[in-house]
Amino acid sequence: MSKRMTETEILDNFDEALENGHFFILYQPKMNHATGRMIGAEALLRWKHPQYGLQFPMDFIPVFEKNDLIYRADLFVFEAVCKFQRKCLDTSISPVPISINLSRYDIYKKDYVSKIEEIRKKYDIPVNLLHIEITESSAIGGMELVTDVLDQLHACGYIVEMDDFGSGYSSLNVLKDLPVDVIKLDMRFFSDKVGGRGGTIINAVVQMTKWLNTPVVAEGVETLEQADYMKSIGCSYIQGYLYSKPVAEEEFIQKLGMLEHEPVASAIELIDEMDAGKFWDPNSLETLIFNNFVGGAVILSYYKGSIEISRVNQKYIKELGMNMNEKEILNSQPWDSCDEENKKIYEDTLLRAIKSGDEESCDTWRTVCSKTCGEDKICIRSFMRMIGKADDRYLFYVMIQNITAEKKRYTELYESDMRLRAGFEHANVYAWEYIIATKQMRPCFRCMRDLGFPPVLYNYPEPAIEAGVFPPEYADMYRDWHKQIEQGAEHLEAIIPLTVGRIPFHVRYTTEFDENGKPLKAYGSATLVVDGEDNKNDSDSDK
Ligand code: C2E
Ligand code: CA
Ligand code: CA
Repeated sequence: MSKRMTETEILDNFDEALENGHFFILYQPKMNHATGRMIGAEALLRWKHPQYGLQFPMDFIPVFEKNDLIYRADLFVFEAVCKFQRKCLDTSISPVPISINLSRYDIYKKDYVSKIEEIRKKYDIPVNLLHIEITESSAIGGMELVTDVLDQLHACGYIVEMDDFGSGYSSLNVLKDLPVDVIKLDMRFFSDKVGGRGGTIINAVVQMTKWLNTPVVAEGVETLEQADYMKSIGCSYIQGYLYSKPVAEEEFIQKLGMLEHEPVASAIELIDEMDAGKFWDPNSLETLIFNNFVGGAVILSYYKGSIEISRVNQKYIKELGMNMNEKEILNSQPWDSCDEENKKIYEDTLLRAIKSGDEESCDTWRTVCSKTCGEDKICIRSFMRMIGKADDRYLFYVMIQNITAEKKRYTELYESDMRLRAGFEHANVYAWEYIIATKQMRPCFRCMRDLGFPPVLYNYPEPAIEAGVFPPEYADMYRDWHKQIEQGAEHLEAIIPLTVGRIPFHVRYTTEFDENGKPLKAYGSATLVVDGEDNKNDSDSDK
């Protein structure tokens, strides 16, 4: 039987407990619920008093903190964990990273980091086997102190986890200023049923953390329902009674032997010019822009040939036009919708964007299937930019446009255009189309072949004049025609000696207007003047 110790008893017995080994550590595994593998563990302090029995941290930690004893207790825990890791390394037990709790009061002790480094080196433990958990409340004493400790820890290579995230101390604000590597979300702070308001908040928080691909560990997970829910919203790392209570060393060693291990994916670092803080802040201009002012956008990560979508905005969902919900999109494997050819185009563009550090774009066809729309082929134009990286993982910001309709129209146009262009091949005519708004000219096959024109000429008629198709004395007149067309001339024609051979051609333009009478296009043609014959009908040549 144990008895809860009073504050005085705790204080009177502290030194003796440290000296005589009455403190010991329990280990609680952190699991990947998607794979069943262990990803780490947390060290939790216990006190077994010879007379009063087992004491719990909830009772003694606050007393330690109040009386300036916590520092010594935390260093004791750190050393005990180092000893344990040494034992694993020296035997055949394969170790996992173990996290140690750092009290917010330790932050006031300037030498915490140098002390733990001293201990770590004494036992020669690789730094990746030791994580440090700090709580949001560490920021209460001012941001400078925590930031300073965090920087020191990072400089030594420690992974730092934000403990008790969501416990309420202006969480998001703290998070955006403290670049932690892992976030621990305590399910007990969201006590409702997972589907209710608590669930909505958790979902929002997890989505927010996914912006930066910072891994989230859900702690205090007691039921399968909770774990499955967390997995469904993209958070598979779980710590809690569902998998295991905190256990003594021997039992933990057994678990280490039984369960496979895997590393936690590291957080992606944003490239320099991006402000991580603004990325996080739900009220920032960046977030507002992401949600409201940019078109369809998606944040995705690329890792060795595979893609994972972390976040999409509402317009992305709209742009796809397939009536899918966000969850359907987040869970879908973007690769699966592309055939090999389109997949290659997309991947090549990603790789190009990694290399150039600039925006790159491509058009890809996908076969998308949604509950409401069934299956459809859509063409997406993607503008991609790399915004962060960690080792081989890259984070991308991709804006999309659904250009299916345009592509289809273009294909139709292209086909009818082909017919048109081929038709002129048989008649003895040169023909072309002049698009007024863009000053583009699209020649027929004959023009392309005989005059060496490309399929589209820009800034028409300059290229044709430059190429010498129109003799210099006709150049200004021909330029003026295009101005007249722009101003609404319906019909123009003249005999013009064309090409270096100065062969007389009957050149005509007919303008096409839209429903408001605005000129759109002009159709041009040039027919060879056969001696006398064409001249007869020639009524109003300009020259
Ligand atoms: P914590 O860091 O949030 O640790 C998790 C606490 O939740 C542990 O309580 C653990 O036993 C408990 N827990 C884990 N899974 C579940 C679950 O599924 N359901 C429920 N209801 N509880 C679960 P514990 O060991 O009593 O520790 C309580 C707190 O005391 C810790 O909270 C931590 O803030 C503090 N603490 C423990 N060890 C240390 C230490 O070495 N140093 C410092 N500074 N604080 C410590
Ligand atoms: Ca903790
Ligand atoms: Ca916690």
